[in-house]
Amino acid sequence: MSDQSVFDVDVWTLTRFVMETGRKAKGSTGELTQLINSMLTAVKAISSAVRKAGLVHLQGLAGQVNVTGDDQKKLDVLSNDLIINMLQASYGTSVLVSEENKDAIITPAEKRGKYVVCFDPLDGSSNIDCLAPIGTIFAIYKRASDGDPTDQDALQPGSQIVCAGYALYGSATLVALSTGAGVNFFMLDPDGSAPYGARYVGSMVSDVHRTIAYGGIFMYPANEKSPKGKLRLLYECNPIAFLIEQAGGIATTGTQRILDIKPETLHQRVPFVVGSQDDVEEYLSFVKKHQK
Ligand code: AMP
Repeated sequence: MSDQSVFDVDVWTLTRFVMETGRKAKGSTGELTQLINSMLTAVKAISSAVRKAGLVHLQGLAGQVNVTGDDQKKLDVLSNDLIINMLQASYGTSVLVSEENKDAIITPAEKRGKYVVCFDPLDGSSNIDCLAPIGTIFAIYKRASDGDPTDQDALQPGSQIVCAGYALYGSATLVALSTGAGVNFFMLDPDGSAPYGARYVGSMVSDVHRTIAYGGIFMYPANEKSPKGKLRLLYECNPIAFLIEQAGGIATTGTQRILDIKPETLHQRVPFVVGSQDDVEEYLSFVKKHQK
């Protein structure tokens, strides 16, 4: 069996899992299932691009024209384009919010569906050059209104998330997915090398995944340099907070549950502390004790 077929078999398992949970969801039309599967197809394409791109990045060629005259698209731009194309082609979305785009992206009228997707196409992409793991993060919401779609549709608290997930393009590619009934993990390419031992590499998906897998705490709290924290609520903190809670952990700003925040702007930042219940509670009591 070739590497490629092993890869495909596992993606099929993930696709089948999503289809089965969709069939079990009462009254489902298949729209969400199609949407999630389109997102996973984009993830699979990004995974393959990330692996091939390592050399191009190391050679400093990304963003330039290659010898055959093709643009060597930067990986984050390529990943963003792939996700937008796949999501719009799923006929399940109306509004997309991407870390790469200042404004919300409104799906053309003929391709619209009832969901909003907020995503970070390639979180930690500044890590590509040092070959540290990078990831994709996403959260799916139902539109709250029926009128013409606007960016306001995306300003929903994380507690309204229908499905969230991340892909980690590490030593192997892994997908974590939750539709509100726990978290499931899938390896996209089990032929990848042994589990990594990365710790605080500064790539949130990688650090968070380690926290979910082994326990502990991950935080980017407010500090003098970043008084509102550094991480973005809609496409970084909310999806991760949803997954962390589904895995039995806590996600907080230090004073408020992340999923209860009513967003005000598309790219707003929040302080972010997530991890196992014991560790986050210990952090909170420590902060309380030392607050002036
Ligand atoms: P739909 O008609 O496909 O838009 O689905 C309606 C609702 O059923 C969704 O908003 C979810 O709450 C649930 N649902 C649909 N498909 C799935 C799935 N694959 N996994 C879990 N829940 C689903």
